[in-house]
Amino acid sequence: KNAGPLSSLGNESSTVTDSKNLRVKLVLLGDSGVGKSCIVLRFVRGQFDPSSKVTVGASFLSQTLALQDSTTVKFEIWDTAGQERYAALAPLYYRGAAVAVVVYDITSPESFSKAQYWVKELQKHGSPDIVMALVGNKADLHENRSVSAQDALEYAEKNGMFFIETSAKTADNINQLFEEIAKRLPRTPSSS
Ligand code: GDP
Repeated sequence: KNAGPLSSLGNESSTVTDSKNLRVKLVLLGDSGVGKSCIVLRFVRGQFDPSSKVTVGASFLSQTLALQDSTTVKFEIWDTAGQERYAALAPLYYRGAAVAVVVYDITSPESFSKAQYWVKELQKHGSPDIVMALVGNKADLHENRSVSAQDALEYAEKNGMFFIETSAKTADNINQLFEEIAKRLPRTPSSS
């Protein structure tokens, strides 16, 4: 059904396939090692398996979420835009993205700085109505926390982002992350 990852480049940011079903392109950004692949695997396959890397070239996974109001959102998830070797392509990945999920690791201040870099990039190159989430992952490692939730929340609020801490390892807040994103998507009123 999918014509492959490149077919999505330049698509409109969200496509209402009918009044109840939404299809959106979601890009994941963040330092290598913060857990982006693990978050996707947890959400899509319900498992935590650090040894199975989904990221080979341009990875593309999709998952449909059913919401309580009986609408559905199909997320088309892109997990490669933040890799250094694709840096030059990054603006192509943001284009047409209705959602950007910027991930850092709560034990790594460097990854939080890098997250802020990605937010600036998105503000420059992303669609103006993009829904942005700031995700502090590895919340299970709170004993080694070095980014405070308060600082991250303040940063997120200043930048019009939604903030959540997750653990791909324990599954904490992973579904909530995607549910909160779904709630924030602009919905085009049905034309019929
Ligand atoms: P990516 O480069 O951002 O895609 O990061 P990966 O998903 O490959 O994860 C990098 C490493 O972090 C792996 O060794 C994972 O086991 C580990 N990891 C990912 N998520 C979590 C988490 O929520 N908690 C803990 N403790 N480790 C995690």
